[in-house]
Amino acid sequence: APQIIWFRQDLRLRDQAALLAAAAAGPVLPLFVLDESRIVRAAGGASRWWLHHSLAALDASLRALGGGLLLLRGPAAELIPKLVADTGADAVHAIRLSEPWWPLIEREIPRLQLHEGNSLVPAGLLRTKAGDRFRVFTPFWRAMQGWGPPPRPLPAPARLTFAPLPAGDRLVDWSLLPRAPDWSGGFSGWQPGEAGAQRRLADFLDKAGDYGERRNYPGEEATSRLSPHLHFGEISPADAWHAVEPQKGSAPWLRQLAWRDFALETLEQYPKSASRPHRPEFAHMPWTDVSSGEGRALLRAWQRGRTGYPLVDAGMRQLWASGWMHNRVRMVAASFLVKHLMIDWREGERWFWDTLLDADLANNAMGWQWVTGSGVDSAPYYRIFSPEGQAEKFDAQAYIRHWVPEFGRSDYPAPLVEHRLARERALAAHAALKG
Ligand code: FAD
Repeated sequence: APQIIWFRQDLRLRDQAALLAAAAAGPVLPLFVLDESRIVRAAGGASRWWLHHSLAALDASLRALGGGLLLLRGPAAELIPKLVADTGADAVHAIRLSEPWWPLIEREIPRLQLHEGNSLVPAGLLRTKAGDRFRVFTPFWRAMQGWGPPPRPLPAPARLTFAPLPAGDRLVDWSLLPRAPDWSGGFSGWQPGEAGAQRRLADFLDKAGDYGERRNYPGEEATSRLSPHLHFGEISPADAWHAVEPQKGSAPWLRQLAWRDFALETLEQYPKSASRPHRPEFAHMPWTDVSSGEGRALLRAWQRGRTGYPLVDAGMRQLWASGWMHNRVRMVAASFLVKHLMIDWREGERWFWDTLLDADLANNAMGWQWVTGSGVDSAPYYRIFSPEGQAEKFDAQAYIRHWVPEFGRSDYPAPLVEHRLARERALAAHAALKG
């Protein structure tokens, strides 16, 4: 009987435990469901662009093996039970994910078998000496190291037997790509799909040894840029881990990759931390009203990269144009929104969700809460980046010149707020919170 393999955020054939389990049990029926009803956070604009190309790539790989990918649009909790009934499928195989909406959908899917593979270590497995789950990164990372390397990646199946593919949707009819206007021109450096992920990984191997020293310099291509590939599961974290680990000086990168596991661990423990401050006192922060007037104009200036602080503006323009922003600049731009403009981090989180190709519920919320100081494990609120100091420290002149060519000319906007005053205001607001 057919074995449904339900692809979600694991759009790969290599190191795909669900696919291998399905293939071992019978003819496979590969499926992707675009569910916009029960997924609480529908994919943003940039993610939809990526998803389109990633699904096309997965479909092509499956066709090369003599099959294809069944596309269905609608509530997975209704479509999959119906597909099971119509095809007489024996099982539905999927890789376990951490977004809080999945268990609610999964409960309604008959014969579901979940497999691991979205993290280096399954969330919830590692425990403190007292038997608790981890809430702080450093001890979590120590425990991961103590646990040992993740399982070796499983090869892609060389052959697959496919069950007959029922009629489904055509990818083009999903309209995932932007049209009128098509703003995706700056995304041409990306190659969504498994082959693109492996290519990025191969490119990074030579640089992995310098990562520890160069990763904070936004003008250099010192990081892997694997984030969208990891989000969509076009490469498994274990696969990336085993490729990079043998490189000399790889430890700082492996540690950074472990932050992704930590974000998943945090999200599973505190699903609400994706949408509200973990530290309750932050609910009383006197955030700027962005529903109209001056507050709205401030938010827009930040989104458009017109704050008058060139490093912030360069980052926001890089994000808009290319769908990605360097991690150091994400921290500076986020800190600027929350602390200099006193705008609620959730406004920034939403903008990132829509514009990042790597938009990820766990990583994005953790990043924003970390910068704000409101998270489970986060930077102290009083750490307020100076955008100018950061630009100097990390040699961002060329990066700024690239993204903000008018910097230094009269058509470049004046700073929205003065750094020293903004800093004092943010600290005073925070002190008042604690009463
Ligand atoms: P590398 O430096 O090469 O790291 C390798 C991989 O490790 C990354 O691809 C990513 O999967 C993981 N990783 C690295 N740093 C972090 C981190 N701090 N937290 C969690 N995982 C990490 N990352 C996302 O994937 N999606 C997001 O939506 C996201 N939003 C963020 C928002 C803010 C405000 C901040 C400060 C950070 C955010 N990050 C997010 C984390 C980080 O900026 C990106 O993962 C990283 O810049 C991606 O580039 P890279 O693949 O070259 O990373």
